[in-house]
Order: sequence, then structure tokens, then C-alpha cells
Amino acid sequence: MKLYSTNNHYNQVSFKEAVFNSMPQDRGLYMPVVIERLDDEFLNNLGSYTLPEIAFKVAKHLLGDAIPEYDLQTIIQDAINFEAPLVELEENVYVLELFHGPSLAFKDFGARFMSRVMAYFLEDGEKMLDVLVATSGDTGGAVALGFLGVPGTRVTILYPKGKVSGIQELQLTTNGQNVRAVEVEGTFDDCQALVKQAFVDDQLNQAFRLTSANSINIARLIPQTFYYFNAYAQLLRAGHNKVVFSVPSGNFGNIGAGILAWKLGLPVSHFIAATNANDTVPQFLSSGVYQPKPSVQTISNAMDVGDPSNWVRIRDMFKTEPEGPGKLIAAFSYNDEETLEALQKIDSAYNYIVCPHTAIAWQALKDWQQDQPTGKAAGVFLSTAHPCKFPDVLPEPIAAKIVIPEQVKDLDAKQKQVTSLGKDFEGFKKYLLGNK
Ligand SMILES: *Cc1c(COP(=O)(O)O)cnc(C)c1O
Repeated sequence: MKLYSTNNHYNQVSFKEAVFNSMPQDRGLYMPVVIERLDDEFLNNLGSYTLPEIAFKVAKHLLGDAIPEYDLQTIIQDAINFEAPLVELEENVYVLELFHGPSLAFKDFGARFMSRVMAYFLEDGEKMLDVLVATSGDTGGAVALGFLGVPGTRVTILYPKGKVSGIQELQLTTNGQNVRAVEVEGTFDDCQALVKQAFVDDQLNQAFRLTSANSINIARLIPQTFYYFNAYAQLLRAGHNKVVFSVPSGNFGNIGAGILAWKLGLPVSHFIAATNANDTVPQFLSSGVYQPKPSVQTISNAMDVGDPSNWVRIRDMFKTEPEGPGKLIAAFSYNDEETLEALQKIDSAYNYIVCPHTAIAWQALKDWQQDQPTGKAAGVFLSTAHPCKFPDVLPEPIAAKIVIPEQVKDLDAKQKQVTSLGKDFEGFKKYLLGNK
């Protein structure tokens, strides 16, 4: 497999280089040079494959001989060891539950696959890989649990003190082993600034082999295609063959993976990009002008992104399409009030509780379906996280009804370990150098 930079197609690297670099020097993003349709035999018979079988087929098709079959099989079996069930809520409205992994969010797919690929590429005797992540909550948990116990790696997670939910904090701070948590007296942006500065610090780069695990890494994008194929497989078994996916979107990695699946031959009729008040992409699709903005805070805070990092990938995938993205992607944005209303409607209509991000995707699907001739495609909205991760923003009566999953119950009994730091870089640097 070869990948190019979206900024320079002659700048090509191997999969291994793309995984370890995360981002090309020229600040583009890595994309596969070849994105070919999967074979018809596979696409027509998707309904007879399991999720790990689909994952292997799709990964093998993209990766070629970058990872030998046997090793790829092992990585997938280890990484994709939980389900992504499709649940019917009403006629032509399905929820794709992506929260059955260890951190209860879809980011587990990307983080678990990426950590195992990195460990696979690490050669014997190489310096330990030091992963630095700043998180507003969800990314940190997925990365921590994704790398937990993975040999040759260590993770340092920075999160804004007092600004993540109780369960998110437990997921960050109770791991031990090769995962350590730092609470920063500041905001998420302060955490991100510390991590960014660490990456360009000479002394730290000499002492450590630093890597970021952020959502632009191609090894996080690829495994997210798996559940789109698997959702379609489930729809085929339920007698549907037309599908529309509604995706709660922040950095547009999740929907980007869906569009990659479409390029690989998955017959998707339409994608719906559902955002909160951070509506840069909905604005772009209606006006044709891409105008990044500073992010605004909402109750669906994992989508508070004013300049979605993966949007360039989506643009890149459309450069060879006769029609622009507007033909395939519809976009809707909702404010916090509308999000809460949607949450309530979902609870009363189906007795089903969703997280605020997921509520936005449901509302977008309903609004889109309203404008369509009836009875055509099955609508699938992606549930990106379990609602128990966001109890503080849910209305009290709804929060009280949430059934807490087993994974979380164990966390309370665990020892919390966290280092508190200020937002100054010197303090963070001293901490890293003093805890080699
Ligand atoms: C990260 C996240 C999103 C946004 O996903 P993108 O790939 O950044 O668009 C949505 N919902 C939840 C719960 C998340 O954690």
C-alpha cells in the first residue's frame, strides 16, 4: 500500500511511515494512492460475512502486502473483538450502536486497530513509542484503553481538570500499566497546546520517540470503514438493499470513513452529516464557501470543532467524482435546545436513550426523510457513544433511566491515579523528563 499527501501527490510513503508520521511534513493528510472497488462477489454477498471477516477483507484490500495475512488476521481479531449491532427503532429507522467497545464510544475501533498496527511495526530493540494525547473526554478514553498493555508503547493523556464527565475521568485515570493521566489546570485548548509544543521541542524529541494518536492518523480511519460494511450486511439480512447513513460529525473522521467505504463499492444512497452549532460543513454545502471558525461550546462537546481536520480527505475523495460532495452528502446543524428536544423525543417514541451526539444524527435523519419520497431507503443513524458518558448534560429523568454497562461498574472500585499540572509548558516538560 502506498499513500500520498493530499497537498502533494508525488509525496508518497508506505503504510508504516504514514502510521508513524500521522501527518505529512507538508501538512496535508495521507490518503491511499489506490482506492479500488472491492470485488463484486464480496459486495453482493456481504450478508453472509461476520464483522471480523468483513474487517479482514476490507483491510487486506486496502493494505495489500503492507501487513502479511496471518498478522493482519491477528490484529483484527484482537482489535475488533466487540459487536456493532443495528437496532430497528421504527420502519426505516435503525440505530447503529458503536458503543460496545471498552471506552463505550466508536473511537474504540480506530484506537484499538491503530495501537496494534503500531505495535506490529515496532521492531525489536526500538525505542518505546510515547503517545501523547490531549482530550476533551472521548478520545483519551479510547486511546488509553486501546493502548493499555500493548507492548513497546506508553500513553500520556492530558485532560482539562474538572471538564470531563465522571465516567470519562475514571476511564482515563484508573488504568495503570503503560497509561498515565495528567489533569491540566486549564481548558482542552491548553492541553492541546502543551502536546503540540512537546512535538516540536528538541530536548523532548531526543529523550523520547513521540507520536500522536489523533484522529487524522490513517490507521484510525481504515477500521472505521468496517462497521459501515457490517451495517449494510445486517440490513441485507433484514431485507433492505438501500441505505442512508446519518453521522454525528465533529472532525469528520467517522463520516470520512463512510465515504471511503462508498468509494470501495458499498452501495450507499446518501450520507447525512449532522453537526451541532459548529456548522462549518453544513454552511459550506449550502454556500460553497468553506469558512473555518473558532469552535463554540455545546452539550455535544465531542463535536465542538470549527475547522474539521478530516474535511480535506473528503474533498480529496471527490476530486475524481464527476459530481461534487453535495450530491452525496446532505448536512444539518442543530443547537443545544434542539438536541435536548431530540433526546426527549427518542426517549418517548422508542423508550431508547441516546447521547447528545447521537440525538443530533437522529434528528438529521428524520428531517432528511421528511423531504424524501416515502418508503425507499433504510435510514441508519450512528450512535457514537453510550449515554452514560454524558450524564450531566442529559435531563434528570432521562439520565436516571440509563442502564450502566458492566465495563463501567468495575471502574469505581479501581484506584485513581492522576498528576495535576498547570498549563505552562516548562512544568509539563519537567514532568515528562522526570518520569522517563
Ligand atoms: C469523536 C466523537 C464524534 C465526532 O466524530 P468525528 O469522527 O470527529 O466526526 C461524535 N460523537 C462522539 C461521541 C465522539 O466521541
